Amino acid sequence: MTAPSDTTDARLESWLPVAAGSDFPIQNLPFGVFTSEGRLPRIGVAIGESVLDCFELAEAGFVDDCCEPELLQAPLLNPLLAAGREQWTALRERLSSLLRADGDRRLRDANPSRFLVARADATMHVPMEVGDYVDFYSSIEHATNLGRIFRPDADALLPNWRWLPVGYHGRSSTIVVDGTPVRRPCGQRKLPTAPNPEFGTSRRLDIELEMGFVTGPGNRLGEPIAMADASEHIFGLVLVNDWSARDIQAWEYQPLGPFLGKSFATSISPWIVTLEALEPFRIEGPLQEPQPLEYLRSGDPWAYAITLEVRLQTARMRGSGTAPVRISQTTFRDMYWNVAQQLAHATANGAVTRPGDLFASGTISGSAPGTQGSLIELTWNGEHPLQLPEGETRGFLEDGDEITLLGWCERPGARRIGFGSVRGRIEAPQGRV
Ligand code: CA
Repeated sequence: MTAPSDTTDARLESWLPVAAGSDFPIQNLPFGVFTSEGRLPRIGVAIGESVLDCFELAEAGFVDDCCEPELLQAPLLNPLLAAGREQWTALRERLSSLLRADGDRRLRDANPSRFLVARADATMHVPMEVGDYVDFYSSIEHATNLGRIFRPDADALLPNWRWLPVGYHGRSSTIVVDGTPVRRPCGQRKLPTAPNPEFGTSRRLDIELEMGFVTGPGNRLGEPIAMADASEHIFGLVLVNDWSARDIQAWEYQPLGPFLGKSFATSISPWIVTLEALEPFRIEGPLQEPQPLEYLRSGDPWAYAITLEVRLQTARMRGSGTAPVRISQTTFRDMYWNVAQQLAHATANGAVTRPGDLFASGTISGSAPGTQGSLIELTWNGEHPLQLPEGETRGFLEDGDEITLLGWCERPGARRIGFGSVRGRIEAPQGRV
């Protein structure tokens, strides 16, 4: 990874209007895939309240000498992800120049309606075809809390946890984008007092606040990705909500792990914030004790200072015009296992990673009250329900509840950037009367 390039310089300004505190100043330039009236799925870059249409940018020849035009004229990001860091950097520098107040004037002097769409008029999509999806379990606070709740009579943290980033292979086909409704799943659940399980709708529907990284070129079968090469293979990060049915999960997960309690929906934010944009917020992670094995060691800082927030709005709140309430605020910076270690570990056996794979961090929880990334922790398995406006309470999610995850980075000397949001509203199960 190179030192912060001038594309993150806090002094840069765009000729396009960008409100103070916007998630998408010129220092960010995240990638997504959008449609709008008259525009089939195409790659876009968020800037202020606009989306820059990369298909048209390539069509006009504005990237000819820095990027293969077909990489920007695909309906998904996978070809660009496969192209690798050198290409990503060249493209980012060109986009920054075209959008800069003191940069390349070609775009500024062109017809704006050809190249720019209001973000409010753009429909966002999952921006890549996700071949494989992995979910880690890398917050020591979350793993400890879940251990206490699910295995009260055993050690909260299993012996392998501090030696390797625990994870499982999830279901890529149910990854959905911001705004997609989440239908309450059915499954087997068993009350502790009942002799047998029953089949029915989940009564303990939960969220998991996570970050996820999207991969670039990837590796060939049998050739692991070393920690030192991780930045060549990680394109950027998104917000992830790993919806979880705790009652289904509690009954099915032993001895093998997550299955139907997790696979019904995983929501992601639509804009991939690149590692280059995140470089000013890259920091040393927490001390790891014991020292990890050689293949999981690196001299580079691999944590990111990202502030995260969870908001909840019930149907009743929506009906009375009550704004969503914050139910958790936490940070990504303290995650025990980092993204480079996760990628190195996931490929250590020679398993293949392809362009567009998604690796989620695991629920991000802190130790202070109100910093946990799931309801099962915030309410301690429903025992201490959240108190909401208008007298409502929540142990787990009810139909009509809408969850919004937000993430942003700020520090003195850098321009604030954000991830936008990922929302999901719980729908009643199909066929319920
Ligand atoms: Ca998870």
